[in-house]
Amino acid sequence: MIKANNPEFRSWIDVPEDSDFPIQNIPFGIIKPEGETPRPATRIGNTAIDLSVLCDFGFFDNLDIPDMSVFYSPVLNDFIALGKSTGSVVRERISELFSIDNDELQGIEEAANLVTFPIDEVEMMMPVFVGDYTDFYSSIEHATNVGKMFRDPKNALLPNWKHIPVAYHGRSSSIVVSDAQIHSPKGQTMPADAKKPVFGPTRLLDFELEVAFITGKKTELGESIPVEEAEDAIFGLVLFNDLSARDIQKWEYVPLGPFLSKNFGSVISPWIVTLEALEPFRVEGPEQDPPVLPYLQYSGKKNFDISLDVFIKPGNGEETQVTRSNFKYMYWNMAQQLAHHTVNGCNMNVGDMCASGTISGPTPDSYGSMLELSWRGEKPIKMKDGSERKFLEDNDTVIMRGYAENEDVRVGFGDAVVKILPAT
Ligand code: MN
Repeated sequence: MIKANNPEFRSWIDVPEDSDFPIQNIPFGIIKPEGETPRPATRIGNTAIDLSVLCDFGFFDNLDIPDMSVFYSPVLNDFIALGKSTGSVVRERISELFSIDNDELQGIEEAANLVTFPIDEVEMMMPVFVGDYTDFYSSIEHATNVGKMFRDPKNALLPNWKHIPVAYHGRSSSIVVSDAQIHSPKGQTMPADAKKPVFGPTRLLDFELEVAFITGKKTELGESIPVEEAEDAIFGLVLFNDLSARDIQKWEYVPLGPFLSKNFGSVISPWIVTLEALEPFRVEGPEQDPPVLPYLQYSGKKNFDISLDVFIKPGNGEETQVTRSNFKYMYWNMAQQLAHHTVNGCNMNVGDMCASGTISGPTPDSYGSMLELSWRGEKPIKMKDGSERKFLEDNDTVIMRGYAENEDVRVGFGDAVVKILPAT
């Protein structure tokens, strides 16, 4: 067992019941305390922990960290680039410092005060500079639902789908961190029965419930990452809301895939949860039939049991849960995605982001988009305030939450929140 994952550990920092951030999580993010510069941090309970101040006090000395400047950087790319072994040493050291029986920091009140912030008093920033972003399409339930709606219910999956982890290259500039506000996009659409396209605000704005991994290894052009080594090149995960304008998408996506229907804003949860912290939640993936080509064949448990919830909060109203899905449903796992991404020699950089694609479960209450939940608008979703939703509306707030839980521990992501503002 990874030392920092020990479910027996308790922290001297208060951790509310059902918190996503027990001492067994130790995610990494970037905080901006008021009047200060952005800096690396972790979180226990509702307390943000400033890694730059821990470094100032010498708490990371003697760990053989090759470059201490990473603890003062406004993004985590350089820290992640030091490699997974450094990441785990730091995670283990934080676990030790904040364990209830450790007095090194707890005993120095002045230092403890400088290191910790109530989470509400810091601004969460983008955890990494995202150089490149790829969006996969790896949920068989989602791909089947979309195929049924838009193509042929009898041949919902395209012939390549079970052989290739299908993806497109997205836009990294518009990936923003929770708590975000994004204007509903305008664009070209072709209304049903119309002879020519029209321009205006989207009428079919949607969320896509996804999980994204952040790469932790730079590779050279021409180099491939074998499937069995791929997880070594994955630093951790965030929740990912790939906002999508379905009417714009429908008109533009043939032949090269989505473009303006998706690049107007995607929202991530602010804390990168390491693969290490998620180790206890590994599960078998679905059986892949027909068998995949050798470069995609893997062994062991490469899926993760992570509950994924989406809520919609209208205006100033109350949240209504609209779905519960799970990351374990993924047909193609992250190791296969990364192996496939690099099999042609495409190079990766540290901080690249690869999202899973919409994660739908097998039942109608576990679908990962409004398109599927309302079945193209045919089955509106009832909200607690009595209103109905087929798609998102202006001033709706979309909240994604994700956590893994067993009898010992709960490890989660916090919220990925975006408020939809009217089109400009
Ligand atoms: Mn997507």
